[in-house]
Amino acid sequence: MSMTVETATLPTLLTALRLPTVARLWPEFCTRADKEGWPAERLLAALCELELSEREQRRIQRHLAAARLPQGKTLDAFDFLAVPTLSQARVRALVEGDSWLQAGHNLLAFGPPGSGKTHLAGAIGYELIQRGYRVLMARTSDLVQRLQVARQDLALTQEIAKLDKFDLLILDDLSYVRKDQAETSALFELISARYERRSIMITANQPFSGWDAIFPDRAMTIAAIDRLVHHATIFEMNVESYRRRAAYAAATSLSDIEDDRDKQQPEKEIATAKDNSRPATLSSEIET
Ligand code: ADP
Ligand code: MG
Repeated sequence: MSMTVETATLPTLLTALRLPTVARLWPEFCTRADKEGWPAERLLAALCELELSEREQRRIQRHLAAARLPQGKTLDAFDFLAVPTLSQARVRALVEGDSWLQAGHNLLAFGPPGSGKTHLAGAIGYELIQRGYRVLMARTSDLVQRLQVARQDLALTQEIAKLDKFDLLILDDLSYVRKDQAETSALFELISARYERRSIMITANQPFSGWDAIFPDRAMTIAAIDRLVHHATIFEMNVESYRRRAAYAAATSLSDIEDDRDKQQPEKEIATAKDNSRPATLSSEIET
């Protein structure tokens, strides 16, 4: 390409206009357009389309970085067979449809440690971000800590308002809120502020029992539960720890290549693990 006024000024113009994709691709595209005799509008449209699609990708990458999701925890990596109470179709429908997010409905996942709650929550967050939503995932006690600091600075309302930009706020491990954190009602205020407007996903070891320790008093605990479940999909994940089952499975496959006599024991353990993994309750959905 010959040096003209345009070739000299275009990089500056495109940077000023914040069009990094066009800035990167125009020399190659212009050369090709000249050589192949493209009409000017075809060149312009091709560059605009690429800028737009790369802009969308950059946006998703930014939102992913801001969401603080656990690495590599996707729906594709989630073994739904390990959690019989969880309907894969239901979860897929949730990440496809947006009516629940528009209405500020909630997701609640309950199950013992290792049952896959954090994985599932992270995966749902990941899918929603791919579809253009904004998500923030945090350990509940970390977020409560942040809200308490804001309260001390008389900025709790503003801090909660800042979280409004997230279509879904994932509060992981609600049961691990510390007793001294429960003395302020910061968490309750967050739940109230988002009620019927912005969605919350909560993971907890226990459904509601023990939640008294998370809020300042019983009345507030009941009021918080009421708001959370009013429009909510509940995932009951009453299965044996996935980590522990994976360890059993590893032990079994190891024993396959070892002595036959050693083989019996781990297999028995696997049978026990499977029994424990039977659903205690069916995944239920509360829509009132
Ligand atoms: P929880 O949050 O309920 O304590 P995690 O989601 O942290 O459990 O799961 C513990 C580990 O086991 C993680 O590495 C997670 O990816 C894995 N895991 C749990 N359940 C499943 C599953 N159903 N399919 C695939 N991996 C799982
Ligand atoms: Mg977890």
